[in-house]
Amino acid sequence: MRPQQDESRTNLMESYQDIRDAVARLCARFPGEYWRALDRDMTYPGEFVAALTEAGWLSILIPEAYGGSGLPLSAAAAVLEEIQRAGCNGGACHAQMYTMGTLLRHGSEAQKQRYLPKVAAGELRLQAFGVTEPTSGTDTGALKTTARLDGDHFVVKGQKIWTSRAEHSDLMLLLARTTPLKDGMKKTDGLSVLIVDMREAVGNGLTIRPIRTMMNHATTEVFFDDLRVPAENLIGEEGKGFRYILSGMNAERILISAECVGDAKWFIEKASTYAKERHVFGRAIGQNQGIQFPIARAYANMRAAELMVREALNLYQAGKNPGAEANMAKMLAADASNEAANVCIQTHGGFGFAEEYDVERKFRETRLYQVAPISTNLILSYLSEHVLGLPRSY
Ligand SMILES: Cc1cc2nc3c(=O)[nH]c(=O)nc-3n(C[C@H](O)[C@H](O)[C@H](O)COP(=O)(O)OP(=O)(O)OC[C@H]3O[C@@H](n4cnc5c(N)ncnc54)[C@H](O)[C@@H]3O)c2cc1C
Repeated sequence: MRPQQDESRTNLMESYQDIRDAVARLCARFPGEYWRALDRDMTYPGEFVAALTEAGWLSILIPEAYGGSGLPLSAAAAVLEEIQRAGCNGGACHAQMYTMGTLLRHGSEAQKQRYLPKVAAGELRLQAFGVTEPTSGTDTGALKTTARLDGDHFVVKGQKIWTSRAEHSDLMLLLARTTPLKDGMKKTDGLSVLIVDMREAVGNGLTIRPIRTMMNHATTEVFFDDLRVPAENLIGEEGKGFRYILSGMNAERILISAECVGDAKWFIEKASTYAKERHVFGRAIGQNQGIQFPIARAYANMRAAELMVREALNLYQAGKNPGAEANMAKMLAADASNEAANVCIQTHGGFGFAEEYDVERKFRETRLYQVAPISTNLILSYLSEHVLGLPRSY
């Protein structure tokens, strides 16, 4: 039986119930035991990602002309939301959905023909996205990795950090400086996007080192030591890379916010079920308002966040540039999932900390979205400056 919150879903746009049901069926093959075992050993959910790929869910945004389903962003959001709602973790593969957009929007026809059909068919994985660096962090324009043109190749030198899924991807979208920063130059100029074929690069100038984190996220640091990348792998124009990456950020934020809504629903359902079943002092703990109210509040906040996700999707699909709404959706949904996670642990008492309930694992997983792919403070800065007209703070 579908929980009540779906029946009351505001119907601003297609809800993709058929997609949601199919994704939920697929996810049911990957229950808590599967994720717990992987989490213990920090192992990549290869079978889960293969199943999603085979079913075509990871290529639904790729246009039909390149072998995908050509569906709008709201369909991808429905897929990711259902994955999280089922207790699975889309962090293992969500990037393919949005990194592909940079290639689709700014790549040449030859590049699209070379990569997209294979990505759609599951023969090539485009899961890695190398932007963040250890010393520059959120200040992307200050990144230090360089790509110097040498004949018909770029020679890449530098380091990235938090390059997730690098060990489980064939291709990486890399942002590097191709024009040295000079006085008076905007620091976000002179950056370019390259497609790095990691199958050839590892051991030939590319080294990947896994980073152990509080949740199982297959994230790594990546070192470039005079890695040669064919010049034909430059996406779009040299020096315009920051703009290309920026143009994909709304989609990224909206999709992550859909995942957070899915997480929040998982936590709320889990907490409500437990509150009805667990009896202490001779009655269900859920009969106490001290238990009910936090769950009810988390539900209300999740629903409000869900509306903002839909608003962002509506604007995005109408061809607008919903920077403010995508950012707000990301912040509100990450807050809603974080709140619901906290409430879920509290509702479970001591059992919330036991591995077998999956609550502590999901709690750790959803915490990430307060920081990545954009931290809350930077969203608030964006709103302060670009929506409220307050002075730029950095
Ligand atoms: C598990 C994981 C996976 C990731 N995957 C990827 C990936 O695949 N590819 C990739 O490129 N990156 C990835 N990231 C990086 C992620 O996007 C960054 O961690 C995030 O954007 C924050 O950058 P930072 O860690 O450098 O923090 P910093 O920029 O060092 O910021 C630290 C803190 O200071 C705050 N802060 C910084 N400047 C200001 C300011 N001006 N005003 C107020 N507060 C400020 C931030 O909000 C943050 O809370 C991942 C990160 C993690 C943890």
